[in-house]
Amino acid sequence: MTTPTPQPGILDIAPYKGGESGVEGLSDIIKLSSNESALGPSPRAVEAYKAIADDLHRYPDGGAYLLRQAIAARYGIAADQIVCSNGSDEFISLITAAYCGEGDEVLFSQHGFLMYPLAAMAAGATPVTAPETAYTASVDALLAKVTDRTKLVFLANPNNPTGTYLPSAEVKRLRDGLPEDVILVVDAAYAEFVSNNDYTSGMELVSDNANTVMTRTFSKIYGLAGLRIGWTYCPPHIIDVIHRVRGPFNVNAAAQAAACAALEDIAHTDAAKGHNDTWVPWLIKELGAIGLECIPSVGNFLIIRFPAEEGRTSRDADAFLSRRGILLRRIDGYGLPEFLRMTVGTEAENKAVVDNLREFMELDR
Ligand SMILES: *Cc1c(COP(=O)(O)O)cnc(C)c1O
Repeated sequence: MTTPTPQPGILDIAPYKGGESGVEGLSDIIKLSSNESALGPSPRAVEAYKAIADDLHRYPDGGAYLLRQAIAARYGIAADQIVCSNGSDEFISLITAAYCGEGDEVLFSQHGFLMYPLAAMAAGATPVTAPETAYTASVDALLAKVTDRTKLVFLANPNNPTGTYLPSAEVKRLRDGLPEDVILVVDAAYAEFVSNNDYTSGMELVSDNANTVMTRTFSKIYGLAGLRIGWTYCPPHIIDVIHRVRGPFNVNAAAQAAACAALEDIAHTDAAKGHNDTWVPWLIKELGAIGLECIPSVGNFLIIRFPAEEGRTSRDADAFLSRRGILLRRIDGYGLPEFLRMTVGTEAENKAVVDNLREFMELDR
């Protein structure tokens, strides 16, 4: 029997591996491997989710009307320029498949989010990376990699896994330096966590420039990763394309209802941000005190550098923590093998990580 052949490039894809979520034989797990919210979702979102149970036989609103209205009102943008998706991951795949094919190039920075090469390869396009400076995207390096085959540029701002960001003037310089017909996708999954004055999510660039889009998610500060819901602000001609290629009911009813409720609970997202503002500096300081340097992060996660020394590497630390039911994320796949990425957890979880890493660093070798 012969087997059918998938499209070119598909079999070169290494399947995406999410953060570990369990350890055999352990029931009490501290999972800090996927940048989920330490505070979980708003209780109002959970209520809205449960209320949908009585209507499961109904199709969802394929246009996510109420949610788009709520997002538009919150941010002062046009509802008909917003498209909702099954996580922002879905949007990343849709826009890549809609605009890129064989021979086209999809550009992003060296330690950029892994969904970008995955989406590029699934579309048969070629992923291209540009070197970073100090674990931060470099506008000059990105612009230097643009060719006449470049169709799409992804910029996660802030970036996962590094936690670094580009100031809005730099993002604008990137946009201004790109050919007009290249789409810039600003992936602002962690925008709500950032308070730096020189940061913006990229929304103004979408309003001002015809070929820029900005994606957001309910998976991070809103704590709804399990429901898979994100949204993107696009110029009208791109919205038109995405509506043609997306599934007619790509966002389920529970996700729409929970996201609407989550958006209203500003006290909850303020609390999540406050929590992050407390614990990121605490973690950097406490880990620094035991000899572990972190790259300064504006997200709800950090990357921790481990020594190259036998017995104290990131791989050793990961094994040590896993045996105790603490799951961080190895990021070898991002070209950062000397680091582990840690999501900011609850107070008890953060303290458990520091206590266990202190013990790890003090072990006799
Ligand atoms: C988590 C994350 C997303 C969000 O993905 P969803 O599909 O919305 O859960 C998007 N981009 C980056 C950089 C992320 O880290």
